[in-house]
Amino acid sequence: MAVNALFKAARHAILHTMDTEAQLPTTTCLEGAIPVLSGLPALLANFTLSDFTIKTTTGSLAVHRVLLSLHSSVLAKACDGDFRETPQASIDLVHEPAACVKAMVHYMYHFDYDLPEDEEVNASVFHVGMALIGDKYDVAALKDAASIKFKASLPTTADGADAFAETLDLAYDNAVALRDLCKYLVTFALDNSEVGVSAQFHPALKKVMQKHPDLAMNVTEAMYTRMKENEAQYRKYDCPHCDRAEVFIGDLQAHTYYKCRGCECRYSGQMWRSTSK
Ligand SMILES: [Zn+2]
Repeated sequence: MAVNALFKAARHAILHTMDTEAQLPTTTCLEGAIPVLSGLPALLANFTLSDFTIKTTTGSLAVHRVLLSLHSSVLAKACDGDFRETPQASIDLVHEPAACVKAMVHYMYHFDYDLPEDEEVNASVFHVGMALIGDKYDVAALKDAASIKFKASLPTTADGADAFAETLDLAYDNAVALRDLCKYLVTFALDNSEVGVSAQFHPALKKVMQKHPDLAMNVTEAMYTRMKENEAQYRKYDCPHCDRAEVFIGDLQAHTYYKCRGCECRYSGQMWRSTSK
């Protein structure tokens, strides 16, 4: 099995596991690959075999070109460029958040990453940063993994409103690269009123919507679509007793009783239906 195909299989297996907790596929090829893949984390700790360095603002990371090349077409070019002849080549990633670079390298060897332990981070913001770095360096599997972690880390209660606004801000700062995440965030904002859309917007959300008119536009469009969907569910019935026309959402059940706000009496769905056109 070619190494590239092996990586694809491992990526699929790992994402599948994260998503559904299903077991790894037990094809002969993958069984053979697992011992090789399980040796990768140890490789990260083995500096003697490393042949490439990634520089970050907090230090240098010793890595292996072959692994970088397999994961990232962007880093593959850097590994393959002018550095080829030098025994210990390097790339400067000091313009990226050091914690994200470190987690990306960790991902390349472990097919997973964790939140940094040594600094306080907003989990959903960090995962957006990871999706972003995955997109920028074309590490598709990392972008997918970050998206799954991101969705699980979004706050839903009022004390997470600031964190949610910060997450929206970073995602909409990179709305082109993170189109799917932005779309997810808009739906999430409609579904979770404590951090998202409610009668009274949280000041942090208000601020981020003022900063990103495209976010405000997306929220408005999503609200309008939802309103139209609800309207399509409205059904008008004439009261079996008084002359009031009552509106219900969805179809009435024959043996369930529904109240008329005109005569204040309850009638079965069957009765409501029999007096209506
Ligand atoms: Zn009535």
